[in-house]
Amino acid sequence: MSAICHPPPGGVILLSREPSRDAPRVSFTERGHLRCLLGATFIEATAFLDAHPWQGVRKCLINQPGFQRLTVIGVLGAGGHGSGLHNGPIASQVAAIELGPIPGGRTTTRRLERGEPDFDRVLTHLGRLGPVLAVELDVVDRFRLAESREVLEIHGNAATRERQLSALIRRAIVAQADPRVHSADVWIAPYAQARIVVAALGTRHFTRQSVSAWQRPLALRSAALLQAANVAWNVATALRPGTVPGMLQQAVRMTATRRLVLEARDALDLGAPNRLPMHAIETAIDLDDVARATRAIVTTLAYLEEIATRRSLYVCAPVGIRFVGTTTAAGLSPHAGRRRTMHIEVPTFADPRLRAAEVLAPLQRLFARDFSGRPHWGQGLYLSATELRPMWDDSELRELRAIVARDDPHGVFANPLLDSLLALG
Ligand SMILES: Cc1cc2nc3c(=O)[nH]c(=O)nc-3n(C[C@H](O)[C@H](O)[C@H](O)COP(=O)(O)OP(=O)(O)OC[C@H]3O[C@@H](n4cnc5c(N)ncnc54)[C@H](O)[C@@H]3O)c2cc1C
Repeated sequence: MSAICHPPPGGVILLSREPSRDAPRVSFTERGHLRCLLGATFIEATAFLDAHPWQGVRKCLINQPGFQRLTVIGVLGAGGHGSGLHNGPIASQVAAIELGPIPGGRTTTRRLERGEPDFDRVLTHLGRLGPVLAVELDVVDRFRLAESREVLEIHGNAATRERQLSALIRRAIVAQADPRVHSADVWIAPYAQARIVVAALGTRHFTRQSVSAWQRPLALRSAALLQAANVAWNVATALRPGTVPGMLQQAVRMTATRRLVLEARDALDLGAPNRLPMHAIETAIDLDDVARATRAIVTTLAYLEEIATRRSLYVCAPVGIRFVGTTTAAGLSPHAGRRRTMHIEVPTFADPRLRAAEVLAPLQRLFARDFSGRPHWGQGLYLSATELRPMWDDSELRELRAIVARDDPHGVFANPLLDSLLALG
């Protein structure tokens, strides 16, 4: 759990009178934006859009994170994203944000609209700017997506595999240059077996076809199957770790999907895998240098192989690659100042016997040091302020520091790691 999103001692109560759970926390504004109050989840947002057309037209979000139980304001505040080079992170969908009063600081609610000074900086708020009372999101006409997932086997020695992996990432990028493609992602089983790496390339095309009669493969849909896999993997890792690579390759093979048409909100929801207790790091890497970005993936796989061979420590889930397009989001956004970003997510089961931190912390350091890989604030975070600082422009940190110092002069929402990063206090 991120020390920035959940600072010790934690538990600052944002508002003494949070809106009642029964009152709707999502509505349309007069201008047709989707207004989400503090605490509203993506489930509430998508359910509202399903039930309430705007001026007779059904609407939806252009993008959303892969898990709808998360809150809109929390995902925004952690620099969250969906996938697709045509779309920025969630911050890019925000038309307005309302920051509530802070004792001894900001005295009234402050509403900022897109284009106003500070707007781009406060979106990745990290809970440090006090209560965010509401955000207003852009919506688009409802659309459907045709999802397909092609499984690929990459053969050969390490150098050949590296070339083929790079080609695969380039394929995912090129696919997204087509305006008919909403997004693409890649999952990679992290360990080679018999010199084979198994990967899957998922693409989502806009379509007018009706929703398919069939469903996603069981491996992506059945929570029971995934729970069983969770138990099996935990046992295998403890007793016969050598079986983990083969199991992971099989898991990726089982995600193969022929063209499946879904409503956008369902296509963008990853489904059952997100219901497992996982621990992950996720790193945002500048995609302007594609060769360097793909080297980061190759480095990830080499690192994971090495720690598995040397110390019998395995991760128990595929490595995920997602893409984020241009945004004006600034401040501590993982995407600030970058035209295109590639995310590498390395998840594993949260079972303490898997010693996730021992595997993931050095990898996160390596990403930061060698690839300027900024962490997703809402995932596992092991970096110190000193390690984080070089990845953002000094001027951005200065501007954000000025906003925090002005709005929360007494440090009501102080956060040791964040304040150290911003050189506050
Ligand atoms: C299963 C799963 C799947 C995920 N998938 C994705 C994904 O696809 N894409 C992605 O980008 N991320 C993803 N994440 C990471 C996610 O973005 C973070 O976990 C994020 O912290 C979730 O926000 P939350 O509000 O639900 O939780 P929290 O962690 O409680 O909130 C996040 C931060 O925002 C602050 N905060 C929340 N609400 C307010 C408010 N109203 N005012 C001020 N501060 C506030 C909190 O204090 C905290 O610092 C996933 C996480 C999980 C568990």
